[in-house]
Amino acid sequence: MSFGHIEKIGRRVIVLGGGNTAMDCCRTSRRLGGEDVKVIVRSGFDEMKASPWEKEDAIHEDIPILNFLVPKEFTHKDGKLTGVLFEEVAATFDEKGRRKLLPTGAPDQHYECDDVLVAVGQENAFPWIERDLGLEFDEWGMPKVDPVTFQSTRPGVFFGGDAAFGPKNIIWAVAQGHEAAVSIDRFCQGGDLTDRPPPMTNLVSQKMGIHEWSYDNDISNDQRFRVPLREKVEALKDVKIEVELGFDLKQGLAEAQRCLNCDVQTVFAEPLCIECDACVDICPVDCITFTDNGEEEDLRGRLKAPALNLDQALMVSAELKTGRVMVKDEDVCLHCGLCAERCPTGAWDMQRFTLEMSHASDVGGGACQAR
Ligand code: SF4
Ligand code: SF4
Repeated sequence: MSFGHIEKIGRRVIVLGGGNTAMDCCRTSRRLGGEDVKVIVRSGFDEMKASPWEKEDAIHEDIPILNFLVPKEFTHKDGKLTGVLFEEVAATFDEKGRRKLLPTGAPDQHYECDDVLVAVGQENAFPWIERDLGLEFDEWGMPKVDPVTFQSTRPGVFFGGDAAFGPKNIIWAVAQGHEAAVSIDRFCQGGDLTDRPPPMTNLVSQKMGIHEWSYDNDISNDQRFRVPLREKVEALKDVKIEVELGFDLKQGLAEAQRCLNCDVQTVFAEPLCIECDACVDICPVDCITFTDNGEEEDLRGRLKAPALNLDQALMVSAELKTGRVMVKDEDVCLHCGLCAERCPTGAWDMQRFTLEMSHASDVGGGACQAR
């Protein structure tokens, strides 16, 4: 479209696919004359590859997203496309928790359209790898790859990125490339591939004086500010019109100040704590509790504010002088540092955390590191 080779599209458009490209296709279709534009996806809404804000923007432009429908057939009459027939599926999970989409048995659904845009991405294809090399493939034709060493079932052959575990993003691909490089280095040296060099971690106190810290700890209860959008009627008139207007200076500064300092951690030193509860009183989100220890489920319910997110581990101290423990719910901590500012003994400290991943060059004593 940017090359100018397409200037218009039919009134009724179906876009197949659930990634960001599909979102681009449907929104572009609206600008090229598509009035009844639908995105139809085989997966559920939450599993779609598109970023949440892209889906939000498509829906805002009156584009419905229909899920769990697998295209079965393009229908046509007199040599002209009339629509697409879809089979309804539902997600089921096997014993390993892997998802499969199976037909529900409901009647097929037909959607009429003038144009179909296929935005389903590409898949791995390894038909060129001979099947008698000792390289095993799974039922989807993907090589079996060790998730730690990235080695295939044939020693000395490694996979990473989309070729190893299917599509993710460039960050995963680069990280897996580094891990595979560590394995290849070990392999060439005759070492143990499962012996992985640990990353370097560090914590440095951010205290600069009695009430001075090297980071800005103003907290704000503001939700994310939405980037203002151009009026929909205007935005849909021309594909070249910018939709997001951007923040003005005031809004931009306010948005930047919502930073939660997630690299600055609360560090607790049990021997210094005199259990005065001052930190409990000052914490704006009630995430610190001094209480008797107990089983996790029981403990979660006994905190000053019950810790409901089971995916987030609790921080539980060693036993204090009174026999109680300090429990902190990391899930709601704002990293504001008020506990450390209020603590009379310095039992709380705010420390900046750094992580430096090991790379293949570190194994041999090199200095290549990245944060
Ligand atoms: S950093 Fe702020 S939110 Fe977190 S425990 Fe301390 S006072 Fe509470
Ligand atoms: S303010 Fe400091 S000394 Fe008092 S209970 Fe909290 S950590 Fe312990």
